[in-house]
Amino acid sequence: MFDNLGDLYQQVILDHSKSPRNFGELPGADHHAQGRNPLCGDNVKVAVKMNGDVIEDIRFQGSGCAIAKASASVMTTALKGKTMAEAKTLFEKFHELVMTGESAPCAQLGKLSVFGGVHRYPARVKCAILAWHAALAAMAGKDEAVSTE
Ligand code: ZN
Repeated sequence: MFDNLGDLYQQVILDHSKSPRNFGELPGADHHAQGRNPLCGDNVKVAVKMNGDVIEDIRFQGSGCAIAKASASVMTTALKGKTMAEAKTLFEKFHELVMTGESAPCAQLGKLSVFGGVHRYPARVKCAILAWHAALAAMAGKDEAVSTE
């Protein structure tokens, strides 16, 4: 399934899915949400610790396919230290990237740009954005389960 992703991108995704960053419980987290993607069986729980409007810390737990796990992992590294508004903007760019393979300056996306190849696999788009849905729901104060369906 990774045939067209390119070696570097593939490596980053495999690395993050095998050794996810910020994986586990987050003591002192004040925002939580769970995301489910029934089509693929991905299940991601995101915990956020906010300091005012800034994401002080963010972690995730759960299970899923390589894309879902890698996306959650890269997302946590990208969102730490960002404001909620910045997180929303980043998600819009990331969403556009995984839907179309193109986005405004990749520099802004940093490592997130490795998911540009996902648009060739429409069934995987939901895997890639699952953790983002959960993170944004958590930050919005909705302590609830979100589903891609
Ligand atoms: Zn998946």
